[in-house]
Amino acid sequence: MEWLGLQFVTELPESGQVILNCSHNPLLVLVAYLVACAASFATLDMAERVGHAEEPRSQRLWRWIGATCLAGGIWAMHFIGMLAFQAPIDIQYDLPITLFSLLIALLASWLAMHTLSESQPSLVLYLKTALVIGLGIAGMHYVGMAAMQSAATSYYDPGLFTLSVVIAIGASFAALWVAGYLREGSGLLHQILKYSAALILGAGIFSMHFTGMAALKLILPEASTPTLTAETSHLQLGLTVALITLLILGSAISAALADKKLQHKEHDLRRVNALLSQLDQARMSLQQVANYDALTNLINRRGFNQIFAEKLNQKAIEGGMLAVMFLDIDHFKRINDSLGHDAGDALLKVIADHIKGSVRSHEDVVARFGGDEFCILIGLHDREEARSMAQRIMQKMKEPIELAGRRMVMTTSIGISLFPDDGTTCEELLKHADLALYQSKGAGRNGLHFFNSNLKNRATMELQLEEELRHALREENGLMLYYQPIFELKTGKVTKLEALIRWQHPVNGLLTPDRFISIAENNGLIAELDNWVLRRACKDLGELSRHGCDELKIAWNCSPLNLGREELADEIENALRTAGVAPERLELEVTENALMGNIANTLVLLRQIRALGVSLSIDDFGTGYSSLAYLKRLPLNTLKIDRSFIIDIPNATADMEIVQAIIVMAHTLHLQVVTEGVETLEQYEFLERSGCDFIQGYLLSRPVPLDELRPVLEEINQRKQSHAVNPLILARGTFAPALLDPSPKSPAPHAGASIVRPIR
Ligand code: C2E
Ligand code: CA
Ligand code: CA
Repeated sequence: MEWLGLQFVTELPESGQVILNCSHNPLLVLVAYLVACAASFATLDMAERVGHAEEPRSQRLWRWIGATCLAGGIWAMHFIGMLAFQAPIDIQYDLPITLFSLLIALLASWLAMHTLSESQPSLVLYLKTALVIGLGIAGMHYVGMAAMQSAATSYYDPGLFTLSVVIAIGASFAALWVAGYLREGSGLLHQILKYSAALILGAGIFSMHFTGMAALKLILPEASTPTLTAETSHLQLGLTVALITLLILGSAISAALADKKLQHKEHDLRRVNALLSQLDQARMSLQQVANYDALTNLINRRGFNQIFAEKLNQKAIEGGMLAVMFLDIDHFKRINDSLGHDAGDALLKVIADHIKGSVRSHEDVVARFGGDEFCILIGLHDREEARSMAQRIMQKMKEPIELAGRRMVMTTSIGISLFPDDGTTCEELLKHADLALYQSKGAGRNGLHFFNSNLKNRATMELQLEEELRHALREENGLMLYYQPIFELKTGKVTKLEALIRWQHPVNGLLTPDRFISIAENNGLIAELDNWVLRRACKDLGELSRHGCDELKIAWNCSPLNLGREELADEIENALRTAGVAPERLELEVTENALMGNIANTLVLLRQIRALGVSLSIDDFGTGYSSLAYLKRLPLNTLKIDRSFIIDIPNATADMEIVQAIIVMAHTLHLQVVTEGVETLEQYEFLERSGCDFIQGYLLSRPVPLDELRPVLEEINQRKQSHAVNPLILARGTFAPALLDPSPKSPAPHAGASIVRPIR
């Protein structure tokens, strides 16, 4: 049988001689095996590279290098194996056929590498590929054998021939499978596995060749005689080919190693880069958190300070003006207290948008400093620019805002300081803008003020006053109580007194509470101060009893801040017990807004106080946001109509209607009504007609110290006896309240009383 020019033994010629003494040069056989192993190792290495390469280009490159290594290695092994073959005849090789065999090896190897590039090759694919590669290797071998030219004819044993093909396919399968398995992984075990696999695969390729060689029978025609070959030249050539192949394989392995290291380095570099960018992101988000206000997305105080310092430096070098504008939303706390913090937050967002919408978006810096405090930094040419911007903001702020189903109008107070006129450092300018804001608030809010140096003096003075107030409280020196009579219309007698604090200042004379209550409130002194008033009022109640006035009640003012203190009820009980006074003689006055704070807690505290027997009065009624629903829940006894409703009576008919409505409403809720700030007879008569229960005001008396109270009370009460209908009629023209008030100046009207009239 002849196939591809190969003669199979089944058809051995009738005549001819079999060359029996064919042998192999053992050194070259060993070299051939080494080359096969080296080629296997190189191929496994390249397959690993292909698996690890990230770019398609380098994958292609390594696939080709791998294919070249495998093909070159197998082919060289085959070539060396042939050179190792020693037969007693002269053998030549046909170059084109030899090169063709190399091409077959290359194609088979490329296919092997291609299959290994698959991300997850299946067993079937491995089998199919192994079949094609095995056939390719066998093809290469037998084509190579066909290139052999000698006097003898080659015959093959079909059994061994088949075995060689099977070995080629088996070795290919093993090579593919091991290479696929070894693609992933690293470490010593991996290396040992790879070396072992290379030895086994080398053995596979090697045994395929030599099984093929064993299948070979050379038959010489009968007439010819065997000759001896030049063995030494084969050995030299074989060693040279081996050396070149090993060098090439070595270079490929070194290149793969270098690439592996480079890739690791690249990975490390990428990881470092990724870490660096993560760090950068973390830093940026930290900076975002640190410098921005989460609610409004405006920069916060810290962020503002940084930008402010930069701008200030820039202006100091280049020249020019800057304005620092402090904004405070008027009565914002009321919104929080009455509508809840969520509504407050929503309002702040709208306000932030209003402010942003009023400034020049790029040049001006808007920040939220916390709470309802905003700060704006503006570059400008003259102070009028700052004024017009502030006015623009105030105007924008007046646009009605829909919130929690209500439409509300907010106002804002603004304080402005200018660089370089009002200061050159950030701290100075911020402090001065704050002082200007303070003045805006003090002037009734909803206004703007520029800083001026007088303000600075005022701030310094307040700091000093705080120190002195602390001292006065500690030493119980200088503070005193004045009492203002509260006249009951039904009995025609003074039945209550309101305790009003005064401070006899060593330098500034007698100070009224509007000068120092806010200082006490802002500096943590108010609890102590109110407590002092409470104890003194209780003591004075005892004193009054001893002088026969044991029917008189005292109304005592308590700051809203104190309603947050749970211990207040105990303090009141202690003060009453220490002075030995009946609780019914004490009345606690709290302002409407104080009640609107933490309503649940306040309610608990007020009920405790009521349970002691102390009466409760709601002060400055009409100035806050309280609702009838709240009023009903509170354990109140008395309602005090704010002076602002009385002041224009009888000229303001609307106010008169409001006062009458309040009286009717209070009576419906079983509350008694006190009207404070009654200065004229007309006001008195109107209130009497309207059914008011008590009146308090300069018409009766200004607040007086305890030791001056007796004559005042006697005089008022005496008038009742002589003029039962109206105790004050006689006083028209002769009644001179000023005579009764030793304080040098008339107290300022209640600061900050905004006239919001819920009962319209
Ligand atoms: P208030 O509780 O509304 O006290 C009434 C204020 O109106 C008193 O001012 C009183 O002198 C003044 N007043 C009374 N009748 C008339 C009048 O006919 N015309 C005018 N123009 N004013 C009148 P004062 O004593 O200056 O107190 C001011 C505010 O200071 C008080 O307002 C109260 O809120 C607070 N205050 C007074 N004493 C204390 C205290 O011991 N503790 C606390 N926390 N606050 C106090
Ligand atoms: Ca009061
Ligand atoms: Ca009042």
